[in-house]
Formats: sequence, C-alpha cells, structure tokens
Amino acid sequence: MDTTELKNVDDLFREYAEAAEIEQRAFAAGVAGVVYVGSRPNNLLYRHNVSVGMRNTRPMMVMERDGALRAQRLLRTGKALTLTAELDLQIGPAYESYNVIGEIRGSTRPDEVVVLGAHLDSWDLGTGALDNGANVVALIDVARQMKRLGIKPARTLRFALWNGEEQGMFGSEGYVKAHAAELDKHVMASSFDIGCGRINGFFTGGRPELPPLVDVALEPVKGLGPFTQVDVPIVGTDNFDFMLHGVPNLVANQEPALYGPNYHARSDELDKCDPQQLRLNTAITGALAYGFAQMEAKLPRQSRAQVEELVRTTDLGQQMKSFGHYEDWTSGKRGRKANASVGPATR
Ligand SMILES: [Zn+2]
Repeated sequence: MDTTELKNVDDLFREYAEAAEIEQRAFAAGVAGVVYVGSRPNNLLYRHNVSVGMRNTRPMMVMERDGALRAQRLLRTGKALTLTAELDLQIGPAYESYNVIGEIRGSTRPDEVVVLGAHLDSWDLGTGALDNGANVVALIDVARQMKRLGIKPARTLRFALWNGEEQGMFGSEGYVKAHAAELDKHVMASSFDIGCGRINGFFTGGRPELPPLVDVALEPVKGLGPFTQVDVPIVGTDNFDFMLHGVPNLVANQEPALYGPNYHARSDELDKCDPQQLRLNTAITGALAYGFAQMEAKLPRQSRAQVEELVRTTDLGQQMKSFGHYEDWTSGKRGRKANASVGPATR
C-alpha cells in the first residue's frame, strides 16, 4: 500500500481517515494481509493505524520507507518479489489494568467534579514521551504545585491518568461506566494528548456555550497566549466517552512541534520535548483547572438526543467510523442511553 510521506498533524489525521477505506477495499479484494510503505523516512518504524482494531484478523505491517519504495520500483519493472515475514506474537488471556486517579477535594462544592486527564499507556517502540508521558507528568506537576501552594478549589479537581487509551480508550470508558450515576455532576472533562508543544487553546466539542467559559478560565494566563478555542468534536482520545455521555469536554490543542513525524514511532523520546514549554503548559493547565473549579457557570449534561444531534450536524459520525467506534454508539453499547433523564437546563 503506497503512502505519502507524513510531515505534520494534518497528514496524520489523513492517514487515520484513509486507513478504514484502504482496509475495507483490501479485505473486499480478499488480500491475505496489508503491507504499508512506511510514511516516515530514514528507517523509522512506528505502529500503524488499524481501523478495525481488535477485530483485525489479518497481518498488517509497516515496511521501512526506503526499502519499501525500492521493492515497489522493482515490482513496477515487472520483477516478482517474495515477502517473508516472521510475526512474533504474544497472545494471552484478557487482563485487568488500572487508571491512576488523584484528587484535590472541593471545599464548597465537593460533589461537583472537574476532570483533567492524560493517558499513562503508550506504544512500545519509543518511550512515549510525546504520547503521552509529557502530559502525564504535566498533570502530576499541576496537582503537586496546587497541593504545595495550599490551593483549595471550590469544586473537586480530579486528576486522571488513564490506562488502555491506545487500545481503545478503555480507561476513560471504564471510568465513565463506573461513575455513570455522578456524570450530571461532572462539570467538565479535559484531555491532554497532543504532544508537548504549546497549548494554544482547546477543542470544545461542538458546544458553543463552552468556548467563552474556557476564555474566562484562561484569562489569568493570557500572557502565555494567544488562545483560540476550536468548537468541533474530536475523536481519538479520552474525552470520547465523556462526549458520548453529554459531559462538556475539552481536548488541549497543542502546537505540532515534533508530534506528527514521531507519532507512535521509535523516535518518540523525551528529547523531542522542550522542558520550558512543558512548564508553561502546566501553568495554562492549572489556570484552566482552577477556572472551572471556581466559576459560577455550569453547563448541563446533554441528553442522548442532543448527542445524536451533534453526530448529525458535525463530522463526529465520520470520525467515529474511522476509529471503529460508530457501531458501539448506534447499538447503545457505548454512550448515553436514550431513556436517561435530561439534566437540569440551567443553574
Ligand atoms: Zn495519545
């Protein structure tokens, strides 16, 4: 499977969007497996998107770009080539892993929760600094600094280090299931998972009432801006199940820096992060957290009908399809149930 070279985050999203269609066509043609030409140069290996996720039954591989392009040239001259692959798979029974959750309990509205999340797991080729160690460390530091300064937020700040994000956002899905009865009291759930570049605003999920609240929260750190909120739903990280349950959700929008070319790759190592920028990001995160813990406003949770409306009026459905989550939503396996009562309209 030919690929164009991945240079930035747009290319990465294009790869994700294309993967589903490539696989469908290949499987329909009865292939034994798929070998992708690596989209990153210089022998760089990485874990490739497989849109069918755990349901995949065929070998799917990435061949380093230069060798693959050479093989392709030879094939085009009519030379027959043989691919020999040795797949060393370790398959075991299902197992349980855990999120790591810590909180600073709210002083006056302890039952109302602001979630700040980053995922603890990563792919194994590199050490996973960009995805997502840097943001895990940043959240731990925000919690540590708030504790040290004796900050007492009105609402509860819950720091969530999710597990199993890369396999399918299992940690945050599990949390949302376990806390289903308390979701009306979840004021906002944010996700930090786009590398270690500067946070330049937040994706606000297609809820026009949310961007002004983020603006208010970021006011104390406006010197680290400018910040722009982008009001579209984002699929692909741990805001997802909160979104399907109607909880106001944010994804930090981070400048690409070195994110795209090193995504899920052997080269995802700490040297790709600028420690000073990480510190500034913790200040931005701290302001966001404290702002949402203190503000009078609280958006209501959306009903299933309202989330369905969001799916209908945005590209959310298309995004869910390319990540293999659409059926879980339509079948009711994932997301808010239709018969659930609608939260209070205002407060
Ligand atoms: Zn990630």
